[in-house]
Amino acid sequence: MKKFLALLLSSGLLVSMASGCKAAKGDQYFVGVAMPTKSSARWIDDGNNMKKQLEEKGYKVDLQYGEDVIENQVAQIENMITKGVDCLVIASIDGESLTDVLQKAKDANIPVIAYDRLIRNSDAVSYYATFDNYLVGKLQGSYIVEKLDLANQAGPFNIELFAGSPDDNNSKFFFNGAMDQLKPYIDSGKLVVKSGQTSFEQVATLRWDGATAQTRMDNIITSSYADGSRVDAILSPYDGISIGVLASVKNVGYGKSADLPLPIITGQDAELASVKSILAGEQTQTVFKDTRVLAAKAVEMVDAVLKGTEPTINDTKTYDNGVKVVPAYLCEPVSIDKENAIKVLVEESGYYTKDQING
Ligand code: BGC
Repeated sequence: MKKFLALLLSSGLLVSMASGCKAAKGDQYFVGVAMPTKSSARWIDDGNNMKKQLEEKGYKVDLQYGEDVIENQVAQIENMITKGVDCLVIASIDGESLTDVLQKAKDANIPVIAYDRLIRNSDAVSYYATFDNYLVGKLQGSYIVEKLDLANQAGPFNIELFAGSPDDNNSKFFFNGAMDQLKPYIDSGKLVVKSGQTSFEQVATLRWDGATAQTRMDNIITSSYADGSRVDAILSPYDGISIGVLASVKNVGYGKSADLPLPIITGQDAELASVKSILAGEQTQTVFKDTRVLAAKAVEMVDAVLKGTEPTINDTKTYDNGVKVVPAYLCEPVSIDKENAIKVLVEESGYYTKDQING
């Protein structure tokens, strides 16, 4: 009898391994969701949306935040594996430092979904749910081109450039998307980068830190704008960085008189603080990425890997993680400024309420 049971168990195990998914514990799957930080509102929304949507499907969820410390995130994922999760959804802090822990997940037959940020150097990643990251950068760059009316104005205009964290695979997509719009004007001299800092390595901002960006902007103002010239536009890849550079330029008097207006400042994530800043006429633009839509996509992928179905994919060639091209779904970002903020964020999508915006 014992032998028979053992046989049944092992054959059951074989079947589930062959289909690439673990058997449900009772009737409830257990999903580990690892998010990078609570220091930015978007990740809090992402985590809450994932938890809510997974729980609505009857899943049990372990949601953890790594607070931008790589070792925290690795330990949290290890812990999830030990606790016996059936699937992992990970928005990495450093896309290159999860190779070892994901090998452990793979050894335990736990599928992995990369959430918003690609996880590099691992074959354990089944799918990638994200936004069209190149398009995010393109929206930022083309916004500056249009706002300065570069097609018609003689210029020259001064611009300074900021990029995201160098260990985030998205950062180069954003930067390249923006630079493909801006570079022709930099090459022709209509846009001038007075600091001379134009390469990704020079303009990247470790951990997307707003204070780091503010300090860099302070230094640029001191070193390159002491002659009384003014900066007309700042390419910022993320709202937290936008708020930092905004503080920097305001500290030296921008926005206080007509001859020193605030520069055009882009952003990303439509975080509440930045939406309010945009409506108050300070930050100029942001890119809205509906975290509810992204979470729904990631949940669809979890469902697929656990139940052996196929999720909808719309990109099978862009996201090579160094080991494999990860099948991805790219959601669509939307450019937001003072003109369309209320319409898109409140009236059409209901992402924010009027009270949140006015509060
Ligand atoms: C995300 C952006 C976010 C940035 C900083 C990126 O990986 O795609 O939406 O602004 O991280 O958190």
